[in-house]
Amino acid sequence: MSEPKVVRIPLRAANSYLLIDQKTIIVDTGDPGFSRGILKALQVNGIKKSDVSMIFLTHGHIDHFGSVYELKRQLDVPIAIQRIDLPYLLNGTQAPLYPLTAMAALIKSIGKDMQVKKRYDIEADIVFDEELDLKEYGVNAVAIATPGHTLGSASVVLPGAAEAIVGDLLVRKNFLFGKACTPPYLHDAEKHAESMRKLSGMGINKFYLGHGKPVELNWMI
Ligand SMILES: [Zn+2]
Repeated sequence: MSEPKVVRIPLRAANSYLLIDQKTIIVDTGDPGFSRGILKALQVNGIKKSDVSMIFLTHGHIDHFGSVYELKRQLDVPIAIQRIDLPYLLNGTQAPLYPLTAMAALIKSIGKDMQVKKRYDIEADIVFDEELDLKEYGVNAVAIATPGHTLGSASVVLPGAAEAIVGDLLVRKNFLFGKACTPPYLHDAEKHAESMRKLSGMGINKFYLGHGKPVELNWMI
């Protein structure tokens, strides 16, 4: 298998990604109401619906899984998520937000009752704990648990382990712009630091983020 091609789909606030290889995996789906944007991106990239093998969710926040219900109906492909964040997908609710700053606390209070209006029930078809090999789904990459932002957060590591799609493990300082930094919401700071160490130990230096453009870090500095 070759190196998968990563296509970022900016959906207003959050990103979805296409991982294109022999098959295509959709990583995250943005807020509710964005399935059309993702389907359009498939079309633009010449991907047939039948080429999509999975929807992978990095964690249980609505701005990352909000459109999964609509997409599941359109594509009928398995949905994968790390076990700890599974209940949020099933219930259509947010994994708890633990703000680190006053601004983050304010944003949390505004959005605290956020819930996805589910028009039909959904099950996760693939639930994993530590690691999920995506080769079986036609994409040369591995998903690994990278808890911290939420306890069930996960990242997708590309072959050669220089690049990863990391959800909200890292964010930009001013949401869509600015330097990479720790997210303003951390459920477990220690686990987050461990996850960062794990990725740096693997040699990851390019991070595809949940919000904004990817960032490159040089761990040797
Ligand atoms: Zn998040």
